[in-house]
Amino acid sequence: MEHGSFPKCQKCEKGDLVPLSDFGSQGAPIHYKAWVCTYPDCGFNIKIRNGEVYTNEPILDGALHTRTRREYAP
Ligand SMILES: [Zn+2]
Repeated sequence: MEHGSFPKCQKCEKGDLVPLSDFGSQGAPIHYKAWVCTYPDCGFNIKIRNGEVYTNEPILDGALHTRTRREYAP
């Protein structure tokens, strides 16, 4: 992936979606496991886990977490 070529977020149309990588239980890297919007007030995210795609899940990461958790509050 070349820098500066990230797709625009389709939710807020202000931020970019940037890929996040993770490491599996065996320490193997999982590239682009999740994509997160860079716009602070948006917090849109999409990720894949066990072959299924999840969107807008709460993110366990500071400000993004509180913002996304608000949408899931009853
Ligand atoms: Zn966004």
